Amino acid sequence: MAEHILTCILCPLSCTLTVKEVDGKVTEVTGHNCKLGKEYAPQELLRPLRMVTSTVKLQGAAISRLPVKTSHPIPKEKIFDFMQEIAPLIVNSPVVSGQVIKKNIAGSDADLVAARSIP
Ligand code: SF4
Repeated sequence: MAEHILTCILCPLSCTLTVKEVDGKVTEVTGHNCKLGKEYAPQELLRPLRMVTSTVKLQGAAISRLPVKTSHPIPKEKIFDFMQEIAPLIVNSPVVSGQVIKKNIAGSDADLVAARSIP
């Protein structure tokens, strides 16, 4: 059995979670102040996910970078591949917030979407 200490990042309360794990399975979570933390702990321990935000090059607008984000959280181990794949992208304005810039980034099943509208 292993015991892990995690900080819940789902709200500003930042509860300290104690997670007991046996053979790759979570057997007990304590320290959470709501059910979200209890659901977060096994996910974070066994398969952590993250929303990723960044910028890509933008042409034809007053600003040179377009804020972008993943359409949903992706596995943490995919973040490096994700950043490499979006680095060479060049987007032409106008862009609408939520517009898909590229589908299935880094095989993560998430799309890269615009985080704001640019006229
Ligand atoms: S367990 Fe609940 S109350 Fe505690 S930090 Fe997570 S979301 Fe917030």
